[in-house]
Amino acid sequence: MTIQSVGVIGAGQMGNGIAHVFALAGYDVLMTDISQEAMDKALSLIERNLDRQVSRERISEDDKKAAMGRIRTTKQLSDLGQTDLVIEAATERESVKQAIFEDLVPHLKPETILTSNTSSISITRLASRTDRPEKFMGFHFMNPVPVMQLVELIRGIATDQKTYDLMHGVVEKLGKTAATAEDFPAFIVNRILMPMINEAVYTLYEGVGSVKSIDESMKLGANHPMGPLELADFIGLDTCLAIMNVLHDGLADTKYRPCPLLTKYVEAGWLGRKTGRGFYDYRGETPVPTR
Ligand code: NAD
Repeated sequence: MTIQSVGVIGAGQMGNGIAHVFALAGYDVLMTDISQEAMDKALSLIERNLDRQVSRERISEDDKKAAMGRIRTTKQLSDLGQTDLVIEAATERESVKQAIFEDLVPHLKPETILTSNTSSISITRLASRTDRPEKFMGFHFMNPVPVMQLVELIRGIATDQKTYDLMHGVVEKLGKTAATAEDFPAFIVNRILMPMINEAVYTLYEGVGSVKSIDESMKLGANHPMGPLELADFIGLDTCLAIMNVLHDGLADTKYRPCPLLTKYVEAGWLGRKTGRGFYDYRGETPVPTR
């Protein structure tokens, strides 16, 4: 089986990046979201990001035009049933993802491969709610998708070798590198990264350092390209909290308890860059720490 058409569910930060890289690699992309506004925003963002690649001479104007021409959007989830590969990149909530797969399954052609870009939720459990757990995988892209090299490939307990090999080939065609992870909470990258971010929030919560001193410490003292709080804002604080909850519930170890301050930011709707405010306020010219 060859993959030519790709359905992307969710046109948020990750969905738009995934649509971008697949269209540029020559795949036909059909993107859906419950929000028309999110889809409109995604299309203009993809165009802007492609323009940036043209101005840096990474791609030509023709490449950009061809890529934009390969992306279509629809409000009907069922339209994605005829694609060869579905990548679910909706909000990090298991009930949302389960409902999406349940609604989609009756419309799928038999050979369609289903994947989720989830950062932490059990692939085995998501797969078990579909009619094809052997054709279901975790397909975890990093943010921002056009820039980041890694894709984690996560096999559920039932995923067959053919599906894994096919997805490995897709990662190569995208010009990215695959890392294989077993299906345990948060896989590899977030199992290591999120407890560090959560610890940075505890460091802030306990008054050990300010937002600025924590981020500067990790940039200049550990040579990280971004501070952990800046990175949390970039990822989205709701996503960070959801991943910590999956680690806490799935591994039943108190070392993964989410920091109450992280919960408070999420309750305030201060979700980071995507809402204009998180550990920094992005509404002015330059980001200003909120604590
Ligand atoms: P986001 O909040 O930017 O976007 C989520 C989108 O999903 C929104 O546009 C929302 O309208 C849409 N959505 C919600 N319910 C839907 C439904 N039923 N059908 C269709 N669309 C629906 O979130 P994001 O950062 O793009 O994260 C999406 C997924 O990618 C999550 O599973 C997250 O864990 C994962 N992920 C995120 C990052 C990151 O750094 N943000 C990195 C890797 C993976």
